[in-house]
Amino acid sequence: MSDFDKNISRRRFIATAGATALGSVLLKACGNPPEDAPKASSPTTASTPAAQANLSPQQKPEVTKVKLGFIPIVESAPLIIAKEKGFFAKYGMTDVELAKQASWGAARDSVKIGASGGGIDGGQWQMPMPYLLSEGIITDKQKVPMYVLLQLNTQGNGIAVAGKHKGQGVGLKVDKAFFDKLKSGGSTFKAAYTFPKANQEFWIRYWLAANGVNPDSDVELLTVPTAQTVANLKSGTMDAFSTGDPWSYRLVKENIGFIAALTPEIWKAHPEEYLAVRADWVDKNPIATKAMLKAVMEAQQWCDNFDNRKELVDIVSTREYFNVPKEILESTIMGKYDMGDGRKIDDKSMAVLYWKDAKGSVSYPYQSHDLWFLTESVRWGFLPKETLATAKDMIKKVNRQDLWIEAAKEAGIPAADIPTSTSRGIEEFFDGVKFDPENPQAYLDSLKIKSI
Ligand code: CA
Repeated sequence: MSDFDKNISRRRFIATAGATALGSVLLKACGNPPEDAPKASSPTTASTPAAQANLSPQQKPEVTKVKLGFIPIVESAPLIIAKEKGFFAKYGMTDVELAKQASWGAARDSVKIGASGGGIDGGQWQMPMPYLLSEGIITDKQKVPMYVLLQLNTQGNGIAVAGKHKGQGVGLKVDKAFFDKLKSGGSTFKAAYTFPKANQEFWIRYWLAANGVNPDSDVELLTVPTAQTVANLKSGTMDAFSTGDPWSYRLVKENIGFIAALTPEIWKAHPEEYLAVRADWVDKNPIATKAMLKAVMEAQQWCDNFDNRKELVDIVSTREYFNVPKEILESTIMGKYDMGDGRKIDDKSMAVLYWKDAKGSVSYPYQSHDLWFLTESVRWGFLPKETLATAKDMIKKVNRQDLWIEAAKEAGIPAADIPTSTSRGIEEFFDGVKFDPENPQAYLDSLKIKSI
């Protein structure tokens, strides 16, 4: 690659990374169009829209429009594919609008005002954001009741570490002495994510704690906009970044860092991001909700087929969506990871998965997973201890797996692919720790490192 190409590709990277970041200022500074600029032509021409089904009057949605927010990482692919391959239209949702969010904070603010106020009705979320919204915890006490409707994906995330730490045994397992040495030298290990108290912070905390490192006292954890994190990793002032694909791999390609761990190495088939929509919208539009679910389920089955993933990359990499060069997506989406430290992974079961994984259904939103996210929030002191006593009631209110089941049955999903329990059962992590959804307190008790 010539220096000129490197420069262009670097600028493009920062510009697109900025799309997931907190500052639209950065976006503009990098020459990206503002969100309201005319959109690049839709890539629908590359695909044949699905034929619109003959809908009976009972199946005709109350509305044809819903406005869903998305973040340009692999988690949002089912929403993009449902639109671009015509699955939303097939089920009567002909006017679905996908709105790229500049950051998780922007998505939160946008759903708080709702589409009627110029925001969004719902969209893609990390956990437990729908709960934090419903309880008013991240919205200045204003409760924004949400329903979790479907899980978009499992896996597909990673922990990137700055290149200067290469060759020091920093991988899935890492010696605590590495962190202690840095700390005694006055340069405490700094790790970042783009939104606090959700998946990406949980993965980095779990990884550290499982290696005997206390994330509250042995390292520094920070919420930082993506673009800034990349610059900081490059300059060496930041040590690690927990993020969704393809960003960690892009750091490898740019020689900025390496991937210490893929999240499926920490927890195989782990829950990741979800489709959740404002409860008032769902209550008002139950048929449209199920139409939307059927469309996304169909898109998830399409995305899960590795034969379709090249086309998936063609569609999602465009300027309107991820705005990334295809080559950084096309290997990771196939489960091929150059970890950047000499380690190479070529295993489809380690890739982002959309419909089925090693544990069964991806799309079905297991209530036992919501319970893990709430329990982990208690572990780190993000939610009060008392949360556990009321967690199951809270989950019943927010997690609408019942709507998922109804939609799946109406869509003719085979019974074998429809879970019969709201619990996926006991979960096991790479360090041998187990989470039994029947007894979250036992999990908390078993953990050596925690904030409570
Ligand atoms: Ca993620």
